[in-house]
Amino acid sequence: MTRPLDDLVPPYVRAIEPYRPGKPIEEVERELGIRAVKLASNENPLGPSPRAVEAARAALGGANRYPEGGAWYLRRRLAERWGVPMEQVILGNGSGELLDMIARTLLTPADEAATSYGSFPLYELAVAMTGARFVTVPQRDYRFDLEALAAALISRTKLVFLANPNNPTGTMVTADEVEAFLDRVEQVCGAVTVLDEAYADYVPRPDYTRSAEWVKQGRRVLVLRTFSKVYGLAGYRIGYGVAPPELIEQMTHVRSPFNTSAIAQAAALAALEDAEHVRRSVEMNARGMAQLELGLNRLGLEPVPSVTNFILVPLGRDGREVSEAMLREGVIVRPMRWMGFPDAIRISIGAEEENARCLAALEKVMKREAART
Ligand SMILES: *Cc1c(COP(=O)(O)O)cnc(C)c1O
Repeated sequence: MTRPLDDLVPPYVRAIEPYRPGKPIEEVERELGIRAVKLASNENPLGPSPRAVEAARAALGGANRYPEGGAWYLRRRLAERWGVPMEQVILGNGSGELLDMIARTLLTPADEAATSYGSFPLYELAVAMTGARFVTVPQRDYRFDLEALAAALISRTKLVFLANPNNPTGTMVTADEVEAFLDRVEQVCGAVTVLDEAYADYVPRPDYTRSAEWVKQGRRVLVLRTFSKVYGLAGYRIGYGVAPPELIEQMTHVRSPFNTSAIAQAAALAALEDAEHVRRSVEMNARGMAQLELGLNRLGLEPVPSVTNFILVPLGRDGREVSEAMLREGVIVRPMRWMGFPDAIRISIGAEEENARCLAALEKVMKREAART
């Protein structure tokens, strides 16, 4: 048999552009021989709640056993918080895994999924794995254009992704706007809308989401939340979805039985009880955001106003060159070409000293460039 291996792989899988993570901080530090600052992945600079770490540690000794596959305790606690039965809650190995699960649940190569240009790259990846068509519409002022998105829906559209707030722009759409959009989706095609609310806890505005209400109304939404951001548990890999029971039931068909670890479940459960840690994280973020905005404005830059823990900074020149030069100063930020903004970088809000180092590095890089031209 001389059939080439690639022939065994469906064309739509072969065509996938794999996710390329940034350089690990340890590697940067080793190369430069200095301590580096990583403001690249929207992580919580405060770290996890000590109570979550404690709970994880306590779970380690029992880890010869498989995790409780139904994740009963954590799902029950989350269901209580959302005011829904636990049959409406599903856990994922990060909310990223739930993106794959919803895509596999709904899509075939004959179907379509839609979202905005300049949003979270894992949507495209999740859809690509199914062979379905992935459609994007342009943004308006760095925001999801829900009018344009509604206009792009056709009868074959089964899935819509709405990142609210959006990564990497840091912008949001209001609850009223989303509700009007959900009405349109219902009329046009009955697709499921994924409301990806990874940064919900950071949003300081009262007109933000009513996602719990929409789930309770039985609307076709899958609300995604994660423990990776404000809870500071990105490395544990755990997130969850809340949706009407029929949708969760269908997703369970494609869920692998032990998709979240016992350690992550224990940490998440404890993290939920540490409201004080969340409060401190949000407060620290607000201070850091103000610090960065002011510093960036002083450098003559106009970052996109953000309701999250990161900020998109249009530079008017290649973001990769700037981020590589900053890297040589020991500051890791993300160039944004791969997310749709070749002339921008995204900076995650860090601790005060980290933000200060970031601003100093950016200033140095910009001055050096100005001197050259
Ligand atoms: C970070 C992020 C997530 C969360 O990913 P996890 O898999 O839960 O770590 C989801 N959606 C968006 C838009 C994000 O930026």
